Amino acid sequence: MIWYCVVAAASPGQSNKHQKKTDAEQRLGNNFSLCLGRYCRVIIELDMRVYLDYNATAPLRVEVRDAMMPFLGECWGNPASLHWYGQKASHAVETARAEVAALIGAKPQEIVFTSGGTEADNLALFGYLEGSKGSRRGLVTTVIEHPAILEAARELELAGTPVRRMGVDADGKCRPEEAACSIGEDVALVSVMLANNEVGTLQPLSEIAGIARTRGACVHTDAVQAAGRIFLDVEALGVDMLSLSAHKIGGPPGIGALYVRKGISIKPRSYGGAQEYGRRAGTLNVAGIVGFGRACALAKNELEQAGSRMAALRDRLERLILEQVAGTYRNGHVLERLPNTLSLGFEGVDGASLAMMLDVIGVAASNGSACSSGTGKPSHVLAAMGLDQEGAAGSLRFSLGMETTREEIDFTVGAVAEAVRSLREARS
Ligand code: PLP
Repeated sequence: MIWYCVVAAASPGQSNKHQKKTDAEQRLGNNFSLCLGRYCRVIIELDMRVYLDYNATAPLRVEVRDAMMPFLGECWGNPASLHWYGQKASHAVETARAEVAALIGAKPQEIVFTSGGTEADNLALFGYLEGSKGSRRGLVTTVIEHPAILEAARELELAGTPVRRMGVDADGKCRPEEAACSIGEDVALVSVMLANNEVGTLQPLSEIAGIARTRGACVHTDAVQAAGRIFLDVEALGVDMLSLSAHKIGGPPGIGALYVRKGISIKPRSYGGAQEYGRRAGTLNVAGIVGFGRACALAKNELEQAGSRMAALRDRLERLILEQVAGTYRNGHVLERLPNTLSLGFEGVDGASLAMMLDVIGVAASNGSACSSGTGKPSHVLAAMGLDQEGAAGSLRFSLGMETTREEIDFTVGAVAEAVRSLREARS
């Protein structure tokens, strides 16, 4: 195999050094040490790049960008204004609100636009719990949530909210029996993510929501990774609040939404204008909202086909790597998981080094979530699933998207085999 690459120093004014390599081994050997030594400052340009980190973010879809363009140009009104400019923007926002609502089986008035999944999660937890009165003040959540929930829960706990965190089994699944024991009369809110961002495991949410409801608790779910990948219906799930983020489904970053069931009251986190029915003050990000709406409409139409296509490619990736690379295992539930997500552990390999080496070859995957990679900490999700420090550190997440092709999957299999072999050799 012949590899060509250009190594570009990122500091301005410095000239690029061109390097030609003759085989994968040489490329790995030379560039990897260069990469390790100067990782933050080196960008390597390659002929072929495979992006398998859709759970971190997805590229903006062309149809989404096209829908947004007028609202970055001629349609610049403030949707709160009563004149023609404002009403044009307001009409676009309400169309998008209906598109977002349709993706999850909600009513448009139940959608509150936010700056993303993080704000939606924070609004759900703080907004609901700070508004709840009496002896019902507790929060029940899980140990495998995204930091947007984990950190919000920690902050609430420091301020006096009783917090219980449910564990997971070896597949990353919560047990409804534990929910039944954890959700007592003192619990105001239960927040359980629908699909885990690192391993893709789906939670038995409707079962847990049923338990919570019979005990009188409100139910929130972080569906940021599930949206656009699996069918979602707030009624079938039995949830009262649900968080979404646009940039995971080909929409723009910096926009998301919280579904709040009619009749559920939340306290705003920011004070100002009466936007979003008084639940989230501030002038709306019209272009972002329009893009989000378009991404949701596309996702809804394509869900079934895209889901089975991604699952087939993901299964091929899993099967070929498990066949071709010894000492490899899957993390997460074999069936009950997102169709696009694959977490694999590689014995005797450091996941961060593997991710870096794959990047040198041209494959973008991730060790841990985008929010925690680079911290050097082992994944809290894998640790909760019972992996020891070495197992957790030796894992890598591949997350596929609509655009992923079979050719890219096959390229990735070869790249993983080569990189793992090389890292194991370097260790021995
Ligand atoms: N929740 C989950 C499960 C996520 O994976 C992410 C992002 O990775 C978020 C919340 C945060 O979303 P955002 O990036 O829109 O703030």
